[in-house]
Amino acid sequence: MRRHAGAVIVALLLLTACTSAIPGQGRVDGPPAEPTPESCPDVPVHPPEDRPVIDLDFELAEDGRSVAGSERVRFTPDLATDELVFRLTANQPLSVAAGSGIDVGEVAGDDVATVDFEPAGADESTQGGLLVIGLRTALQPGQSTEVTIDFRLQLGAGTFDRFGQDAQTSWWGSGHPLLAWELGVGWRREPLVDTLGETASSPVAQTTLRVLAPAGRTVLMTGGAAEVGEDGAATVWESSSIAARDVSVAVGEFTTAEGSVGGTRLIVGSPEGNPAELLDRAGVALTTLEQYFGEYPFDTLSIARLADYGGGIEYPAMILLADGGEVTLTHEIAHMWFYGMVGNDQGRDPWLDESFATYAEGLVTGRSEEPGALLEDVEVGLPIGAYASSAAYFEAVYGGGSAMLALARARAGSELFDAALRCYVNANAWQTAVPADVEAALQHLPAAVAVLREAGAL
Ligand SMILES: [Zn+2]
Repeated sequence: MRRHAGAVIVALLLLTACTSAIPGQGRVDGPPAEPTPESCPDVPVHPPEDRPVIDLDFELAEDGRSVAGSERVRFTPDLATDELVFRLTANQPLSVAAGSGIDVGEVAGDDVATVDFEPAGADESTQGGLLVIGLRTALQPGQSTEVTIDFRLQLGAGTFDRFGQDAQTSWWGSGHPLLAWELGVGWRREPLVDTLGETASSPVAQTTLRVLAPAGRTVLMTGGAAEVGEDGAATVWESSSIAARDVSVAVGEFTTAEGSVGGTRLIVGSPEGNPAELLDRAGVALTTLEQYFGEYPFDTLSIARLADYGGGIEYPAMILLADGGEVTLTHEIAHMWFYGMVGNDQGRDPWLDESFATYAEGLVTGRSEEPGALLEDVEVGLPIGAYASSAAYFEAVYGGGSAMLALARARAGSELFDAALRCYVNANAWQTAVPADVEAALQHLPAAVAVLREAGAL
């Protein structure tokens, strides 16, 4: 996510501190080691074989203000568990205040014993922030279960949020109960911090999307969107994704433009004028970022231009773009590597996606800020809830974090640093990375590691 710099809301207090342990985080000591084939694969490692399989059905109401949804999940844990935990993002107080929210209906499955909700920072008027499904018997690693969850999503008045609707567009991201599992760790129950930043950690899943939209409107979504037929008065759109850790959908009266960059299909929808210019700019940014981080991770990239709410919100292979600037566009495309492919717990380690996406802006635009001022007294590596305000969070993680990476690159040498980042991206593809993974990728570049330590990232 990138909030337009001139419109940062400083009054939002981050009330919740995250105190969870950080698995695997530790110093890598000893002599600098050169990259090995294992620490530096030539191409991204494959998504986990046993990843969840998620089928999502969304039906947008004719008035564009609500979505009837159904989610079928096949889940195969890598650790024993006797429950399933889903994050109800739309129930965070800021979204509820704008009129959004999610209400879970029937939950079905042969193994389902109980259905409960935990508050987890959600607005008090809602069911809660976490849906917890108790299972009749514990699943052992490698065993599967399947559940189906019906839900209803309200889309509030358009604002800079994951959910909203206005006269032109209805959109939602993280609009379904989001599976809150982290490989090797287990369930993530972090509260819904009331902030503009993302706080979720979710695994990549083999995902299909089916959207019923009022006739005459165009759908843009994760995985691309193919119009496949009609269902009554609605038009049916579908997509599938090999590995997506979340999805977003925009339905509106878009003018679309399509193109391809290498093997990537680019689809851009804009409510007015000619979307070709946006398509061109997205293509340039994507091509440039590929030179630094490797091949773009998905088959498609869809971009829905919303009204000027200021900023952009990234989802796997899909961007909700609410400002027209080059910087925001580049930032969100960079998130396809840092969040889309290399996942992280966005609440616990926000710098792993936001500092890198902000750093990437400078690689494309050629503009960078003087790192000295940005790095003074900065603590880049805190959880999102530990910063005193949204402004402090943006300043440290976006400003300080990107300056830190640019300085590390300058100190280590750009070629070596760029190669080390490629190693990091390839070795941690489709996983959930932790700061120690960055340190491992940079350990043969002690000057870079020193910069990251100084800035509090490691
Ligand atoms: Zn961002």
